[in-house]
Amino acid sequence: MSYQSWHEEHAQKHKKLVEKLSHLSDEELIQYFDFDNMVEKEPDFCVMYAKNKKCHDMETLNCYLCACPNFRVGEKSSTCDINSKDGGSITSKDGFVHQDCSGCTVPHKVSYVRKNFSRDWKEVMSKNFD
Ligand code: SF4
Repeated sequence: MSYQSWHEEHAQKHKKLVEKLSHLSDEELIQYFDFDNMVEKEPDFCVMYAKNKKCHDMETLNCYLCACPNFRVGEKSSTCDINSKDGGSITSKDGFVHQDCSGCTVPHKVSYVRKNFSRDWKEVMSKNFD
């Protein structure tokens, strides 16, 4: 699956879940997206949930802004808009330089989610393809 296809599919899943949870306050909604709660209540939302495995080694991991608003995809590379000190890069055989976010926890922190919150996930991620 291409990144674009995943992005669109995830946007639809996110939208559906936020609509289902429209009775919750913003803070309750953010807390609902806590990894442990999502594993229990939304097992199909992420492939990692089946293995109960976090994508990053964090005690409290929030899944609301998975994808990261700072991620940028261009024709020959993907990059980090804030040049996170915990980011890296990997070049594939075809020469594409991939942003490596495996060591970065920025978008999974509750404080970051609060600061960048919108019920519209696509709006928050609108610069991913700039
Ligand atoms: S390195 Fe961190 S802040 Fe930068 S795009 Fe990746 S997850 Fe986002």
